[in-house]
Amino acid sequence: MSSVVNVTTEAIEKQYELIKQYYQKFLKKFGVKLPTLRNGKGELTKNSLVLVYLSFGYPKTRVVSKIELTNFIRKFDPNVPDVQQGRHLAAQDGWWIVSGGRDNIVLKVPSGYYQLYTLEAPYPDFKQGHRLKEIKGWDELKLKYHNRCATCGSEEGKPHLHWSGTKTSLQQSHLDPRKPLKPGNIIPQCQKCNRADRNRWVYDEKGRVIKLAYAKFVLNFDEDIQQRIYQILNKKYGGSKRK
Ligand SMILES: [Zn+2]
Repeated sequence: MSSVVNVTTEAIEKQYELIKQYYQKFLKKFGVKLPTLRNGKGELTKNSLVLVYLSFGYPKTRVVSKIELTNFIRKFDPNVPDVQQGRHLAAQDGWWIVSGGRDNIVLKVPSGYYQLYTLEAPYPDFKQGHRLKEIKGWDELKLKYHNRCATCGSEEGKPHLHWSGTKTSLQQSHLDPRKPLKPGNIIPQCQKCNRADRNRWVYDEKGRVIKLAYAKFVLNFDEDIQQRIYQILNKKYGGSKRK
């Protein structure tokens, strides 16, 4: 079950070069991290070995067990503990490696196994987060959202998901309408979601409402919610006006 494919150093170097080509063409622009093939001592690095091993036969990659992967790495470093690199390479470095036992949409991989899905797109959860603030261009920002509205997912230029007679056009919307519309405070929203917003809400980077931005809008809330808010605030501020 966990027999390791025998490979020469030459084959590893060749495979690494192939990965590097895909990386430069498809992944570098997203900030995916390419591990170095060798460390300062000239030894093959664990990350590069894992990537190489998972990518053999690309684009027809195999499902590889963690045990098989660990055994492969141990050929180069016999003392290596359990290999966790598959998960690290995905979540932290941006490679689209599917770990088994999760809610994967692209591949069915059993628990304890890995499969490299593609070298032509970054790992889905990798694209935003830390790097979003660095984005300057609007086109680049839209690309990070696959040209879709952050809130409803309608795709630019295509029929709107909820108004199929309407062509989706993406607009620059505030994450927080109380702050200026500039890099770090912009999400793409379709014309429908942007209009429904009317500067009432604060969004997170996934287009989900996280706060109220316009206090008077509480008057539109249901009566029982308004009562509840009143009680909460009355308790907090003790009936006195906030300084
Ligand atoms: Zn929308």
